[in-house]
Amino acid sequence: MKQHCIKIPKKKGEYVRKMLLDFEILDNSLKIGMDGTFLYIPLSREPTTGELNNLPKKTELIDFYFELQKKKTILKDLLDFSPTYEVIGDIALLEENLDHQKASRIANFLIQTQPNIKTVLKPLTPVTGEFRLRKFEITAGEPKTETIHREYGCRYKVDLAKAYFTPRLSTERSRILSWIKEGDTIIDMFAGVGPYSILLAKSKKPSNVIAIDKNPDAVYYLKENITLNLAKNIEAIEGDSREEAKKFANTADHVIMNLPHSAHEFLDSAILLTKPGGIIHYYGIAPEDDLFESYIKLIHLAAEGTGKHINILEKRVVRSYAPHQYNICIEVKII
Ligand code: SAM
Repeated sequence: MKQHCIKIPKKKGEYVRKMLLDFEILDNSLKIGMDGTFLYIPLSREPTTGELNNLPKKTELIDFYFELQKKKTILKDLLDFSPTYEVIGDIALLEENLDHQKASRIANFLIQTQPNIKTVLKPLTPVTGEFRLRKFEITAGEPKTETIHREYGCRYKVDLAKAYFTPRLSTERSRILSWIKEGDTIIDMFAGVGPYSILLAKSKKPSNVIAIDKNPDAVYYLKENITLNLAKNIEAIEGDSREEAKKFANTADHVIMNLPHSAHEFLDSAILLTKPGGIIHYYGIAPEDDLFESYIKLIHLAAEGTGKHINILEKRVVRSYAPHQYNICIEVKII
């Protein structure tokens, strides 16, 4: 069938496929097309200007004839609809707003047909509160919320009911790698179970990674994951980043602020932590008509308050978050 798609040179294909997945605009019901030079990746909707600006320069938008994805067709045929779920380790996570009957049908179907899925959970609440947690119902399979998820050669043990974790940021985490140099000091202010800290420590030989989280359960899993991944040069700290920042003033080459709803409340601490010339990786949730400017003003004001200056190095959309809302990242140098 004919569908709008992204045409991209093959060597950039996997990178772009993951980005489209993060933007939630990859049409999974169709098979990705290819010829000798290009991949043709089907889209479920038109990309926004913000999303397009983040794709590599050689990206083209064209129409292409696609084959249907076999596995998806079977799922769709058997259930009469195409189920959406994400997989974290051996747990499948359904959509929050599914009615009970649909959720049970999908859950039983997944348990019976997908040997890698042992438990199916349905979220009962959105992600909320200081520790960014949600409640779940066990819809089918083993009664558990703990699993081990594999990502970029690392393993993360996590109890989804006790600590935040999402595989949807995997591309973003790998993108941060390109900013880090051997010997850097990294401070992960909101580390959770460690997916940024551990990936960076394992891949880039930083001299030191300080991973802080206020949630004692997250820090329990962070410590387990440091051991599980044999990661060196990481210090796991249970505490409030605002307080911990006072102990590590002017030490960081990179500060990671992955608390997108309230990172702006911690900007003064992040600036305190950053060495002159160091970089803050700031995450926010922003409406499509003001993706970056309001946040840049806040960063500028916070720096000015401490007598420092800023230089914006990069700003990008990470993924779509809700209708007309985006998870964004701003890379800012502190001078
Ligand atoms: N970076 C991790 C990841 O990518 O999975 C976790 C991100 S999660 C959105 C934010 C984390 O910040 C949560 O684990 C929460 O417990 C932690 N947190 C919230 N307030 C905090 C504070 N004042 N100090 C330290 N950690 C905090």
